[in-house]
Amino acid sequence: MAYQVSQRVQAALDTLTAVPQIQEALSFMEKDQEEIIARQMELALIPAPTYHEEKKALRLLEMFRAEGLENCHIDEYGNCVGLRRGTGGGKTVLLEGHMDTVFPLDTELKITREDGWIRCPGIVDDTRGCVTVLSTVRALNAAGIRTRGDIQVVGTVQEEGMGALKGMKYYVNHHPELEASVSVDGDGFRGVIYRATGIQTAEITFRGKGGHAYIAFGEVANPAHAAGRAIAKISNLEVPRDPKTTFAVTCLHAGADSSVHVVPSEAKMVVNFRSNTPEELEKLREKIFNAIGEACREETAFWGKDEITYECKYLCDVPAGGQDDHAPIVEAAVAASRFLGCAEPNLYPDGCTNCNRAIEAGLPAVCLGDGDYDPHIHSTEERFREEGAYKGCQQALLVTLLCAGTEFQDSVL
Ligand SMILES: [Zn+2]
Repeated sequence: MAYQVSQRVQAALDTLTAVPQIQEALSFMEKDQEEIIARQMELALIPAPTYHEEKKALRLLEMFRAEGLENCHIDEYGNCVGLRRGTGGGKTVLLEGHMDTVFPLDTELKITREDGWIRCPGIVDDTRGCVTVLSTVRALNAAGIRTRGDIQVVGTVQEEGMGALKGMKYYVNHHPELEASVSVDGDGFRGVIYRATGIQTAEITFRGKGGHAYIAFGEVANPAHAAGRAIAKISNLEVPRDPKTTFAVTCLHAGADSSVHVVPSEAKMVVNFRSNTPEELEKLREKIFNAIGEACREETAFWGKDEITYECKYLCDVPAGGQDDHAPIVEAAVAASRFLGCAEPNLYPDGCTNCNRAIEAGLPAVCLGDGDYDPHIHSTEERFREEGAYKGCQQALLVTLLCAGTEFQDSVL
């Protein structure tokens, strides 16, 4: 059965979209598209791999200032922050996109624009989110719309990879006044992410005495073999399909290329595992660490001389979490998507976006930006489709207004 938006949320959207000032803001976004794309291309050309977002942040900060945002600054963590103050009586909303990209500093950033497509690494993920945030502010300004709640406008750092959503984590943890969070990650308007897949990535270091591959044979256990035993056990683990639960050994390293006749004293592996529920994630975590413990004991017992031990360092730890399918903010996002012409928006059962951190902090939260699935995201072939792109901005604007509240309608939260 099709997803039902409650009468209350639908009525709020209907009221809002009937207001001439709101219509003006929405049509401004369409007319403003070229201006927004110009900023998007400029920002995409500034290299910003995770942990190296400073330059992009400084430029985005100038853009925030140019739109008249208050209190513009880079926070202690590197997030680019501005404030659009409300008139009071609404809900304080965070509206953010992440500034970092997956591309290393030496990646060639070059824009090609043809046939309605713009190609450049990072042009969508998530430079588009950053300018969607900007577009929202420009449209509100152009139409003279005041929200009741404050809107905190942020470009976040450290979303991707080893960043593990830490810029967002820092921001939401340091802003207890927040009452809702709208993330934009991507270029579309066709769906909503409102659940958090739990993610853990652990680096395991197996240690032993090590020695000569021939002379010490039989005298020492082998940390590389212990890692091998662990991987064999992990590869046989069974996990549920629903809730989706996954595991992968993603890195493996032992010894050195210059000493290939040595029992290494250390072997490292990285294992990544995920689940859409905290219960399954915890069950899987236990199984993985049981496998690692058993592998060490078996390798130790096999030779009966020295002991293989292991140490664990977490590289990424994001808890799983979710919200009700009919949380008002989720309904607001669905209603806005339908209003913009998408009959059946995607409701994702999972998510690995900054929204995870907002959910972790207990906020009503969504991540927008869902476009047509593009396999080129995170590759150097990344591309942005120009036609109708302003609709992603319109969805962000409507959801933000529905959450913050305006003189025309109360916050739906
Ligand atoms: Zn992203």
